[in-house]
Amino acid sequence: MKKTLKDMDFKGKKVLVRVDFNVPLKDGVVGDKTRIKAALPTIEYLIKEEAKVLLISHLGRPGGEVKSDLKMDPVAKALANLLNKEVKKADDCIGDELKKAANNLENGEVLLLENSRFYAGEKKNDPEFAKKLASLADLYVNDAFGAAHRAHATTVGVTEYLPAAAGFLMQRELNALGEVMENPASPFVAIMGGAKVSDKIDVIKNLINKVDKLIVAGGIANTFLLAKGYEVGDSLVEADKVELAKELMAEAEEKGVEIVLPIDVVIADDFSNDANTKTVSVEKVPAGWQILDCGGPQSLENYKEIIKTAKTVIWNGPLGVFEMEKFAHGTVELAKALAESDAHSVIGGGDSAAAINEAGVAEKMSHISTGGGASLMFFEGKELPGVAALDDVE
Ligand code: ADP
Ligand code: MG
Repeated sequence: MKKTLKDMDFKGKKVLVRVDFNVPLKDGVVGDKTRIKAALPTIEYLIKEEAKVLLISHLGRPGGEVKSDLKMDPVAKALANLLNKEVKKADDCIGDELKKAANNLENGEVLLLENSRFYAGEKKNDPEFAKKLASLADLYVNDAFGAAHRAHATTVGVTEYLPAAAGFLMQRELNALGEVMENPASPFVAIMGGAKVSDKIDVIKNLINKVDKLIVAGGIANTFLLAKGYEVGDSLVEADKVELAKELMAEAEEKGVEIVLPIDVVIADDFSNDANTKTVSVEKVPAGWQILDCGGPQSLENYKEIIKTAKTVIWNGPLGVFEMEKFAHGTVELAKALAESDAHSVIGGGDSAAAINEAGVAEKMSHISTGGGASLMFFEGKELPGVAALDDVE
């Protein structure tokens, strides 16, 4: 068990809080505020406990130098609006001036530090940089589940020098994902979609030991179809992963896990929303056409049957190129089916979460993870460095 907010005394203490404020910016204004909202319970708790709150996050990919369009000022504004409270904004995330500013905070005040990735030491997990960050505060809280799969200075390095606990969001994610990986009610079904087999190999390998059925869909299904001897035309495939797909299917069979491939698919003569489309059996994908949605009527019927009897479902990766309306049907219908089912449903992956939001059924899911890469690493059965680095409860 990792330490959480309830295990620490915050009154009058300077608390460095790693949040995931890596939000989309447009014309200097924050677009989707979901990530900021997700951190509010922790921030509000620390304010109430009369801590001096120092918030730190990365934003975008500035590559270790100051990029004026990736400064945190718009984030400070959005946060102040959401908190209905003043949020101070620092021009740096380390240094003597900032130290002074931190020391001058009153209890319950909030100071947002500048983008941690303006320093190369962040991604390198440089101990000197981490030490400078840590010297600003008395305590450290990590609430950035979305960055916990990375061993960076703000997620791992600082924990060498400060008492370190999980924030509420981190705790909620660890509980939800931990429960489903350690104690899933069966039948346990995993749905894996998305574009790249290589991204999902370790997840599939781990899940074969845990699930009863594994639905392989999205672009990754193509490589599995190829491994089964089907022609997939111009579909996205990873030719160098065909052997691996064969091995994974053999391993699944040995373990009594059913790998469920699409039965019929939506194909297109071009990777475009203006393409001509047809729905065909997976046995009949003509040359020159590509599979862009696994959600043909028979595939969907099959998926719905499986979901209906499942007690636990985890889902990562859309069933098709859902960004284009013509190929979103399978993903949307699956989201709706999951919303209607009684299964405990856990969603990981940025695009999957976006698809579920678009389908308007987010509220019906048991848990939608805020971390793409982090939730994948969890499904891989690996310990996240940003979690491992936190203090254990004595
Ligand atoms: P997540 O972010 O939920 O983990 P991924 O990033 O792995 O999901 O995959 C999402 C991407 O997969 C989407 O951009 C989608 O367009 C793409 N995709 C899904 N099916 C196909 C397909 N048949 N061909 C090409 N790309 C696909
Ligand atoms: Mg993605």
